[in-house]
Amino acid sequence: MGFLDGLKKLGLGALEDEELYEDPSKKKAEEKKEEPQKPPVEIDEASLLFDKKYVCPVCEYDFKVRTLRTGKIRMARQDLDLRPVFKEIDTTKYEVVTCPNCGYSVLAKYFGNLTKFQMDEVRSKICANFKRQDFSEDVYTYEEARMRYELAIASAMVKKSKNSEKAYICLKMAWLIRGETEHLDMSAPGYTEKKVANDAEEKEMLQKALDGFELARMTETQIAGMDEATTDYLMAALALEVENYNLAMKMVGNIIGSRVANSRIKDKANELKSLILKRAREARETITTENSEK
Ligand SMILES: [Zn+2]
Repeated sequence: MGFLDGLKKLGLGALEDEELYEDPSKKKAEEKKEEPQKPPVEIDEASLLFDKKYVCPVCEYDFKVRTLRTGKIRMARQDLDLRPVFKEIDTTKYEVVTCPNCGYSVLAKYFGNLTKFQMDEVRSKICANFKRQDFSEDVYTYEEARMRYELAIASAMVKKSKNSEKAYICLKMAWLIRGETEHLDMSAPGYTEKKVANDAEEKEMLQKALDGFELARMTETQIAGMDEATTDYLMAALALEVENYNLAMKMVGNIIGSRVANSRIKDKANELKSLILKRAREARETITTENSEK
């Protein structure tokens, strides 16, 4: 199943076979085996949001986007790959600006003007085929949020955004899928199938994010506003999540051996290193057991 399957519904099925990065790397989605977590309770999500006004840089349509009010929520925890988790709301649902008129979409962080080339590409490859959508006025569903991310990936592809921007969207979409999985009702019919499908899709997006950050790291100086040690840390965590232990070790090694990284991130890198070694050992043991059983 392709990660852009949803584009068909939006009239953009032709983009499904496009390569996300111009330097394609191998990617293989596997399923992971984690215990389901309890879905967190949502506390009046709508009260944490306001309507932010935008003018589409492509079609000049005025529209509003549900946007998080700052300073109202406190982070409950952070995942290994730096995803912040809040009790009250899944903030990842509200980070894409989507023009409901033409479909042009971008992470709010990267919202801005487009070059003539980019406008032409977006107009002919996104807007011309886009089926107008009405999004919820109160809170976005995961389905709506996914659609927005798929449009953001498609827009980034056709306007030839930097690899770091594409990678960052993939990372956020992986986080969105993880958030959806955490909010699934475990007693609902089809829970297991949905969870298995989500886990595979999440891993596919994590791999795509990692591929993009690897490319970006070779050519870009600053990646998504992060300093070098943070980028390396994130890549190490992503590599661990997709079970690329060699790359994970290489990235933590960069941080531990760095002369500019601070002691806080070095400590975090050392903790991550222990976890990578542990998981790599467990993976080797699994393979040995499987072989001896044959
Ligand atoms: Zn527009």
